[in-house]
Amino acid sequence: MSVQKQGKERHYGKGSRGCTRCGTKQGLVRRYGINLCRQCFREVAGKMGFKKYR
Ligand SMILES: [Zn+2]
Repeated sequence: MSVQKQGKERHYGKGSRGCTRCGTKQGLVRRYGINLCRQCFREVAGKMGFKKYR
């Protein structure tokens, strides 16, 4: 029997990707197709024109 090792591609999950800005993996925001942590999201969101959360 041949064992086929299928590489599972993880598109998301812990350790898959971090913040594209600072690299942290905590509190990632994947809304709008971006990968930023919450802190960077707040900063970038303002520049990108997103409304601030109240
Ligand atoms: Zn960040």
